[in-house]
Amino acid sequence: MLTLTNRKKILSNKPMTWMEKIYLPSIINGLKITIRHLFKKKITIQYPEDKRVFSTNFRGLHSLKRDEYGRERCTACGLCALACPAEAITMISAERKDTEVNLYREEKYAKEYTINMLRCIFCGLCEEACPKKAIYLDGNIPMPDINRENFIFTKEKLLDN
Ligand code: SF4
Ligand code: SF4
Repeated sequence: MLTLTNRKKILSNKPMTWMEKIYLPSIINGLKITIRHLFKKKITIQYPEDKRVFSTNFRGLHSLKRDEYGRERCTACGLCALACPAEAITMISAERKDTEVNLYREEKYAKEYTINMLRCIFCGLCEEACPKKAIYLDGNIPMPDINRENFIFTKEKLLDN
């Protein structure tokens, strides 16, 4: 908050001194700050050549998992979609044929599974809600893109991740 004294100082019409007019002290002060920062440890990194080491809690892009036999873990129960506060997950479930059930163990599967990354806020609730350990946020950071369609992640893309 501006006090009365501060306001007076800002509105002061006092003529500049000779030293103030040549701006030399200000330039020297500025250079001193620049030189001081030249020798300090740099906190910026040259991304994408240099990659930052993420914390173990880091939440990156989603991936859908398979079990040790290569079968999709997801059974399209819908709990992740229910837990998602951004309504970013949609799916269509389907039932396997009788002949396939033995092979896949579970009767239901996600015929389609989509995450709209433009809506996702990376809260991780889908991962926590999943009873089958089928979805994890263990991928990279989302890459920028100018095409909105590239942010719609299909089941195939999520399984690839
Ligand atoms: S991380 Fe959060 S916002 Fe993103 S899909 Fe999962 S539940 Fe939804
Ligand atoms: S990812 Fe998990 S919670 Fe979501 S539908 Fe599949 S099994 Fe259910």
